[in-house]
Amino acid sequence: MNSPNAETANYIITYYSNLLTDNERQALQHCRSTIKLEDDIDGKRTKMYYKTGWLSADPNILGLLENGYEQFAANCAARILNENPNGVYLNNCPVCGRLARTPYAKQCKWCGHNWR
Ligand SMILES: [Zn+2]
Repeated sequence: MNSPNAETANYIITYYSNLLTDNERQALQHCRSTIKLEDDIDGKRTKMYYKTGWLSADPNILGLLENGYEQFAANCAARILNENPNGVYLNNCPVCGRLARTPYAKQCKWCGHNWR
């Protein structure tokens, strides 16, 4: 099976985050926290994030991220699609066929088509 592109992968892990495993969810939290800590010069918030578990030191979690966020997201999305072939609604535009912004969108962000 083809690995989902970055756009599809982000859509799935954002709108179907309930289908992530606990480890995947923690890895995602770790990524998002890392981005928020880019300006943490003195490391105080970083320390706090480790304490609260928003950053992980668990090799099982970090291992999921060893090939970078994009690969991680693609792996999660591929697994979710594989295990839940009917549980994920890819809201593709009826005109241009590209993926809409959310599963509930009624307007295409690419070609501007409206549907109901
Ligand atoms: Zn469209």
